[in-house]
Amino acid sequence: DAAAGQDFIRDIIRADIAAGKCTAPVTRFPPEPNGYLHIGHAKSICLNFGVAEEFGGRCHLRFDDTNPVKEEQEFIDAIQRDVRWLGFDWGGHLYHASDYFETLYEWAEHLIKAGKAYVDDQSPEEMRKSRGTLTEAGTPSPYRDRSVEENLDLFRRMRAGEFPNGARVLRAKIDMASGNMNMRDPTLYRILHATHPRTGDAWCLYPTYDYAHGQSDAIEGITHSLCTLEFEDHRPLYEWLIENLPVPSKPRQYEFARLNLSYTVLSKRVLTTLVRDGHVSGWDDPRMPTLAGLQRRGVPAEALKDFIKRIGMARANSLVDFGMFEFSIRDFLNKAAPRRMAVLRPLKVVIENWPEGEFEELPAVNNPEDPEAGTRTIRFGRELWVEQDDFMEEAPKKFYRLTPGQEVRLRYGYFVTCTGVVKNEAGEVVELRCTYDPATRGGDSPDGRKVRGTLHWLCAADAVPAEVRLYDHLFANPTPGSESDGDIFADLNPKSLEVVEALVEPALAAGNDPAPVQFERLGYFCRDRDSTPGKPVFNRTVGLRDTWAK
Ligand code: ATP
Ligand code: MG
Ligand code: MG
Repeated sequence: DAAAGQDFIRDIIRADIAAGKCTAPVTRFPPEPNGYLHIGHAKSICLNFGVAEEFGGRCHLRFDDTNPVKEEQEFIDAIQRDVRWLGFDWGGHLYHASDYFETLYEWAEHLIKAGKAYVDDQSPEEMRKSRGTLTEAGTPSPYRDRSVEENLDLFRRMRAGEFPNGARVLRAKIDMASGNMNMRDPTLYRILHATHPRTGDAWCLYPTYDYAHGQSDAIEGITHSLCTLEFEDHRPLYEWLIENLPVPSKPRQYEFARLNLSYTVLSKRVLTTLVRDGHVSGWDDPRMPTLAGLQRRGVPAEALKDFIKRIGMARANSLVDFGMFEFSIRDFLNKAAPRRMAVLRPLKVVIENWPEGEFEELPAVNNPEDPEAGTRTIRFGRELWVEQDDFMEEAPKKFYRLTPGQEVRLRYGYFVTCTGVVKNEAGEVVELRCTYDPATRGGDSPDGRKVRGTLHWLCAADAVPAEVRLYDHLFANPTPGSESDGDIFADLNPKSLEVVEALVEPALAAGNDPAPVQFERLGYFCRDRDSTPGKPVFNRTVGLRDTWAK
């Protein structure tokens, strides 16, 4: 398929189709509903749904709900929302590992009857010790040679709820001396007296991930079970179970590299702690690497998908630079986002040769990258706001912005020259006095005179107050925890959120459009849902790398 991308996974699928092993791939995305999806999951979603689309197959959404203790409906709903947000559709193929509990149980009895599984009464501690080490073979459990009858009886009584949590487990009987720890009689079932969100109290016996996963794949007719590299060592067990059970199909497991991103933690355990301990405002805090957080931050799904495509499907783990993600966001928003003017830290400007109480309407281009975006009208008047950072009383040579005696362009307005300053009692500049050149309307002078600096500004009569939330990395270290004995939370960035009382042009206050905008010279922003009719709130999605060269 010429439309399909090039990577080792797609090469395998292409070869399998050519060899007649399958007509089209059937894949699955199997989240555990114990938290919100994050950027790492997006990589797996784009891969699984992406190859299904490209090769004319299908991708299932399967909730891996084998651990009732940590799973919640809120997460189940959020996961579906987020997969859809990325633009993918499971087309009716929504499944749960819990759908298969009865079949999985029957297959466990099948293993017992074949002498390939046994009930072990050892304590978790004893089991850990007898498993051995990488250099030392494990010790067989004293219960390993129980008869089929005794195993069946005990397993059925486990299901009936006769024993407390942790009293017994069911283990596969494989090889206690295997060089692969996963093959040393892995646990298939554990006792857990807990209410499951879907099966309620029907079960007090739950399958482990290793046992449930491959068998769920086989039941659903998955052809390519794509998972991250840490499951490479589990593959022999995956295959052993498929070989030893009466499964209706034989899926194969393939591993790809997990996404690791600088300044970012992609572990649900850590993300859960961040939420629980109030380091962030919730799962969708705009600083969170969750898909819900990215949406609230204003990151378009297209930008995230572009990023995933750019990093590719490597077979080895690596750390991806967060800057690459920002590149994809800017690249998309540069074309898509309308331009608006906002002043984050306002400084008053009075145009001395502009008549009091008079205004002039000026056209402002909505998006120089998109001619169809048209123009809007802004007003120029005697009192304006500019950015405090755009003025220096004693400026170095290359400061092309406002300083006494220097001419600058006010975007879409006029050339103005700073003629003086007004200071408060503390000696701080609180107002600039300027003159404008009436011949430079729109920002060009008829005599071809050049100015180096072009500033954004607001008409004081029209400016609307807004809260602007400036975000930085949630962690101050590119590899959080690496310099503090693994204490990730020691690396939390105390300056990850700065809130400023800003002013914005009226076009930004009207309506309640969540679409991203560019605040000229400042970055890309989007309206937060905390906005109220009188007070819009904006989140900074990402800054601009460069200010205008013009
Ligand atoms: P965590 O370790 O944070 O709990 P998980 O892998 O257990 O994450 P799941 O809900 O089981 O979370 O993940 C669903 C799918 O997403 C799995 O197939 C998993 O391999 C994949 N996935 C999770 N994190 C990443 C990541 N950082 N990069 C690529 N794929 C990932
Ligand atoms: Mg997990
Ligand atoms: Mg998992």
